[in-house]
Amino acid sequence: MGWLATESDLPLVARYYEIHLLGLAGYQPQLFVCGACKKPLEPETNYFSPAQGTVFCRQHGHDRTDTIEVSANALKVLRFLQTREWTPAGCCGSVPTRRPKSSG
Ligand SMILES: [Zn+2]
Repeated sequence: MGWLATESDLPLVARYYEIHLLGLAGYQPQLFVCGACKKPLEPETNYFSPAQGTVFCRQHGHDRTDTIEVSANALKVLRFLQTREWTPAGCCGSVPTRRPKSSG
């Protein structure tokens, strides 16, 4: 666990552990298919229901009052974190986690 202290992006490490802890506790969020129609989610804005622990497609999530919008990129990152193992070499080197600072 010593490598954890050397990670430069601690918020990302925290999100990784949160999403895996949810899975271990039996509350793994469903991030790949719609919670209503069970069709694979399209790469577009979808809707996450924390209470249901699932993402709904645009058709089934848009009018729900218990959902928040989740962008295609946010869903990609969540899926990536959910399906990858974090090693001392890091988990998500290919995921841009911070916007580059503008020089000006
Ligand atoms: Zn659906």
